[in-house]
Amino acid sequence: ELGEMSLKDIDQVARTSFPLCMRHLFDTVSDLMIESCFMLHAHLSQEDHHMKHGGRMQLGLFLKGAGLKLDDALAFWKAEFSQKVGAERFDKEYAYGIRHNYGKEGKRTDYTPYSCQKIILSTPGVGDHHGCPYRHFSEENLRAALGKMGVSSRALDDVIDKAKTKHYQLACTLTYEAVHGSSCDAGINHPNQYLSDSQKILE
Ligand code: SF4
Repeated sequence: ELGEMSLKDIDQVARTSFPLCMRHLFDTVSDLMIESCFMLHAHLSQEDHHMKHGGRMQLGLFLKGAGLKLDDALAFWKAEFSQKVGAERFDKEYAYGIRHNYGKEGKRTDYTPYSCQKIILSTPGVGDHHGCPYRHFSEENLRAALGKMGVSSRALDDVIDKAKTKHYQLACTLTYEAVHGSSCDAGINHPNQYLSDSQKILE
């Protein structure tokens, strides 16, 4: 059962209810939006600016699963990509991929958002932002990212410990519990489950 998410709520929901993997992708897109406004000629790599395919799929399908309508999704991605590539190229090259995710192009497959298992098993390369931070971040980056999410230093050591022993979903569950101050007995199996559980609590 899909909820609904509108473009105007997306920043707020990202801060309170996105799991770390999506928060990271979302912040990357947003940072790039800001950078591209102020530093158009700075040394952003082409790759970074476009966020590679894996990240676009992982975040795009998550947002779709969260109930972001196709028109809002097009507006969201267009705000970032057209800065660099121009509106015309966006419409030609990127809009297709987004409509494709929504089953409106090609074979019209209605793609489903990625599960934790699929994300954990993905293999992001240098400069990629997709994947599961509990598996793919260095300890230093993971600590910084968790601090930014508001995980207290006591809970933080437990989370790092689970990540180190390769219990990535458990690490995510502990993060959820620390951030929400509420238990999550079922554990985290899917980023969209993290989101919907969080929204139920915060409602
Ligand atoms: Fe995302 Fe799942 Fe990893 Fe949590 S465990 S960060 S929801 S992939």
